[in-house]
Amino acid sequence: MKLSEYPKSGRFENFGGQYVPEILYPVLKDLEEAYECYRKDSNFLEELRGFNRDYGGRPSPLYYARRLTKKAGGGKIYLKREDLIHGGAHKFNNVMGQALLARKMGKERLICETGAGQHGVATSLAGAVLGLETEVYMGAVDAKRQRPNLFRMELLGAQVHEVSSGSETLKDAINEALRDWSGNVASTHYLIGSVVGPHPYPMIVRDFQRVIGDELKRQLMEKERRLPDHIVACVGGGSNAMGTFYPFVDHEEVSLTGVEAGGSEDGNAASLTDGTEGVLHGARSLLLQDEGGQIKETASIAAGLDYPGVGPEHALYKETGRVRYTAATDEQALEGFRVLSETEGIIPALEPAHAIYAGMEIASEMKPEELLVITLSGRGDKDLETVREAVR
Ligand SMILES: *Cc1c(COP(=O)(O)O)cnc(C)c1O
Repeated sequence: MKLSEYPKSGRFENFGGQYVPEILYPVLKDLEEAYECYRKDSNFLEELRGFNRDYGGRPSPLYYARRLTKKAGGGKIYLKREDLIHGGAHKFNNVMGQALLARKMGKERLICETGAGQHGVATSLAGAVLGLETEVYMGAVDAKRQRPNLFRMELLGAQVHEVSSGSETLKDAINEALRDWSGNVASTHYLIGSVVGPHPYPMIVRDFQRVIGDELKRQLMEKERRLPDHIVACVGGGSNAMGTFYPFVDHEEVSLTGVEAGGSEDGNAASLTDGTEGVLHGARSLLLQDEGGQIKETASIAAGLDYPGVGPEHALYKETGRVRYTAATDEQALEGFRVLSETEGIIPALEPAHAIYAGMEIASEMKPEELLVITLSGRGDKDLETVREAVR
């Protein structure tokens, strides 16, 4: 079976599945059926393409980074510019798709959870443009750390609930969002932010994000008349990487590398590199947990990579060896951040700065005629203060 044909019955071999309270099974079934119908519905697809184009700014450019290429000293480096999409990152592709699907299903309300706040902001903008009520769950500790994003969500008309149970961070916000959903299934869509969660979410989010890889394939064909030799993307939950890789998984000649957050001596968020099998967020995957199954505290300079799990399809790609997963440390990401800013005049988000660092290492081993594409998942405006403090 080809890798692109997963998931089979909601599973990526032994990963994936639906580990949720029984009350949610019928809702997930409804979502799956609605999605199966709308994914082939030309009106739905045309409407989504319209939003992607006229509101989101798609297609994002594929940019040949001449000075970065020279600096790395090897293969030719292209950047897929998701930093130029509305909202400043690839998250737009998924929230727009799911919010539109929710409206088609007759839902009036979106809920989501957010750690650093980026997904909350993205969901809020999709809610605003489609006229859907939006409520965001956020751990109280995270809310305190991320005041500007809280304000953005409020400006976009969303209501933010600060969750003060447990450790007051992401996993407690997930629990609250699931509780809300269980009580309001008829009116509400739970908008999950990465290729994680119970089936059918990993598949739906992948399909809405594959626009990245589909575009880059077409754009590179136009520019170079061939497929890339290697593609690199950063991995938090795994959505920008999955969207980039998916159209290439059956092309065995294209090497794929996912880059996780290697963190510092305070910890990391490298679930594929360091994790073990377990259940989080309604699915079985690789997680950072202790022997007792308690989720570990993660650490990364990039808020968007700071998640203790990863999408189940990535766990499958790791197990089959189709994708190689590495990690870049906080310090290496800062190096990538600085180099891209100085050589290309592009200030990247700290998440893809991990991919920039790893990508340059890979490019340096490649021949000049070989092609490397790095997905630049977002822009760095949100990270300026973090970087300033880190280099002080
Ligand atoms: C949220 C975010 C990520 C991490 O999410 P994935 O699902 O792994 O893509 C990466 N880059 C940026 C810019 C983000 O905002």
